[in-house]
Amino acid sequence: MVEDALGMNSRIVDIAQAFSEEDNHDNLLEMIVAEALIFAGGDAASIYIKTDVETLRFECLAIKSLGIMRGGASGEPLGVPDIPLSSIIDGRELHFEVVAAFHDCETRLVEENMSERQEYYSGASFFGDMLDYEVVTALSIPLSIGKPETLGVLQVFNPLNSASEPVAFAKEMIPWIESLASLAAMAIHNRQLVDSHVAKQEKLAKLVQQKTTELESIINDLKVINARLLEEKQVDHLTGVNNRKAFEEAFSVEWRRAERYKYPVSLLMIDIDHFKRVNDTYGHLAGDECLRIVSDLIQTIFNRSADLVARYGGEEFVVLLPYLPIENAVLCAERARAMVEAQVFVYADIEISLTASVGVSSLVPEKGLDPTELIKLADEALYRAKDAGRNCIRQMSVT
Ligand code: GH3
Ligand code: MG
Ligand code: MG
Repeated sequence: MVEDALGMNSRIVDIAQAFSEEDNHDNLLEMIVAEALIFAGGDAASIYIKTDVETLRFECLAIKSLGIMRGGASGEPLGVPDIPLSSIIDGRELHFEVVAAFHDCETRLVEENMSERQEYYSGASFFGDMLDYEVVTALSIPLSIGKPETLGVLQVFNPLNSASEPVAFAKEMIPWIESLASLAAMAIHNRQLVDSHVAKQEKLAKLVQQKTTELESIINDLKVINARLLEEKQVDHLTGVNNRKAFEEAFSVEWRRAERYKYPVSLLMIDIDHFKRVNDTYGHLAGDECLRIVSDLIQTIFNRSADLVARYGGEEFVVLLPYLPIENAVLCAERARAMVEAQVFVYADIEISLTASVGVSSLVPEKGLDPTELIKLADEALYRAKDAGRNCIRQMSVT
């Protein structure tokens, strides 16, 4: 007997281990049902779990003699209604073994032929009718994690044996099957806690994702609005300097004023050398960052109130320098070129070196002279600087 008890004990320990390691609720139920059949020496076993609406729900059923597994991980629905915990259906009080075991939180044993006794109306009669299986004796064990926390009931059944006699359950096994039921209850409870935590986490993650998407869409809308506002404000959205439109407007005003007062207007056209390679090598975002740095450098040099720095397009900047004769404009251009060459451009811990070529033009506006002449000259000078090998300056002027 001691041997038996020891054997049973170590078996219980193994089962506890297996239950705690099973992370799928349905598989766990199937494991419990299978162990219950072995422990109690039954032919059929089922599990009921209490629902939030005061009923017991058939979760899993195994019948050895019919080779049937329903619910659990089988994917086969049970098709059996929930049993109300009130046990009153249509105003009639019914006796459900399973409900009694649940309420009393005690093991109940029916040894006489319960199919012949109306008062032993049981959840088993539902599946019995459905599967043409006659339950005769039943053992109902509460799945309790300590009174009054009962989360369901485990039942084991037997039909008549081959001699048409009821099969009695071995009473000495009841304490063991009660131990098994406690382990099962704890495992189910833990699984429920984990699953509801996971469900909450998933719900939360979905909500966060949804909010992030909403936020991203708002940010995108804001970016579009911002770009439009900047455009209206004549600011280049990438570098923050004047855009081409601002340059053209300021240039035409400056041209007329210079023409009236007969002072020189100089123009620098600064173009980054081989900038396509920067994008190709380090990516477009790195290129953008370089453009921002170049524009900052240029702005620090040309900070007289009359100077106007603008992004003319792509990787090309223009600087309008009223009152400045070409010699001084060339000095400024050289400073800008040298600063770009000396600058270490850093993007995402990558160091990038750049050079720029500069075309300088200068003239004193006169009546009948087209303002675009100054731009064309700077363009031509820039072309020559590129032709001369880049990272240098060239000048064109009309004197
Ligand atoms: P060159 O020395 O002859 O000027 O060669 P380059 O490669 O600088 O000139 P090219 O005209 O062949 O290419 C200009 C490059 O500038 C191509 C284009 O992708 C890049 N670019 C223009 N605008 C932007 C921008 O806003 N951001 C970035 N990252 N690159 C830009
Ligand atoms: Mg270029
Ligand atoms: Mg260019």
